[in-house]
Amino acid sequence: RAISAAPLSHHEEAMERALRPKLLQEYVGQAKAREQLEIFIGAARKRGEALDHVLLFGPPGLGKTTLSHIIAAELGVNLRQTSGPVLEKPKDLAALLTNLEANDVLFIDEIHRLSPVVEEILYPALEDYQIDIMIGEGPAARSIKLDLQPFTLVGATTRAGMLTNPLRDRFGIVARLEFYTAEELARIVVRSAGLLGVPIDSEGGWEIARRSRGTPRIANRLLRRVRDYADVKGDGRITQDIANRALAMLDVDPQGFDIMDRKLLEAVIHRFDGGPVGLDNIAASIGEEAGTIEDVIEPYLIQQGYLQRTPRGRIATKAAYLHLGMMPPALPDA
Ligand code: ADP
Repeated sequence: RAISAAPLSHHEEAMERALRPKLLQEYVGQAKAREQLEIFIGAARKRGEALDHVLLFGPPGLGKTTLSHIIAAELGVNLRQTSGPVLEKPKDLAALLTNLEANDVLFIDEIHRLSPVVEEILYPALEDYQIDIMIGEGPAARSIKLDLQPFTLVGATTRAGMLTNPLRDRFGIVARLEFYTAEELARIVVRSAGLLGVPIDSEGGWEIARRSRGTPRIANRLLRRVRDYADVKGDGRITQDIANRALAMLDVDPQGFDIMDRKLLEAVIHRFDGGPVGLDNIAASIGEEAGTIEDVIEPYLIQQGYLQRTPRGRIATKAAYLHLGMMPPALPDA
């Protein structure tokens, strides 16, 4: 995948860290989540207590990891970071939990992928700051209770619907991250360009922003690739013309859709008559995993009104036909 879903390389990860806002004030957009957090963090600080557990959900690249770091920084505590698939055994999680200091933040990315046995020891930890661990083996094995320091779990997931009910119920604060507007992304692009020392004018920043699928991670990625283009084909400055040419070369179309977006829309229209078509059929047809389609590709197409999700399957809207240069059949408006 060219743009949206490719895993981060080492180099890219370092770059992301460098571009990450450190405080709530620098965190662009997400007004609703920011306002909530500001109040709850302020209250927790004032009382010297641990913040309630926080669940962040939304598509990849919208700023969940960034926000978890900001929460810890604003609380003035340490952050420990792990992810659902990494915690294989209960003792992996127990080791992390018992090392937390008072009011620390534990960030678990992809929390919907915790194994049931690990999730089991998380419940009493979240509820009572206690864990039960098994000592010894065979007939001599016994379980002992360990007290933990009060702490805050920040869980991130692409789909809140994938969480078990008992886990979801233990989060006092639930924030859904939304796609960013082009204006917000333009602010992020210009800020990042400043940090990277890249000269950019406002039209150049705007062009990258409006083609970034509402996603800061993509905006920062495109910025770096457009910078390369500007260095080689221009004088290093990012203007609208340079951005246009670079993005065309990267196969990002004027709407900001990349190859996979177009492949999906084409498949629904050409192979399935515009739908309704089930997710698994789309997946087989375009050679992408159903989970990736659901988490990464389709949320933006749906939000932009190019695809509809119905109980009978996905349907291409009028806008999708028009985008591919085709006459739409008689369809309800998007
Ligand atoms: P997620 O954890 O949701 O996949 P990240 O927190 O890793 O997303 O964000 C990806 C990149 O996008 C980060 O490096 C950060 O620089 C940038 N970013 C995300 N949200 C914001 C924001 N609100 N303001 C500025 N930059 C952001």
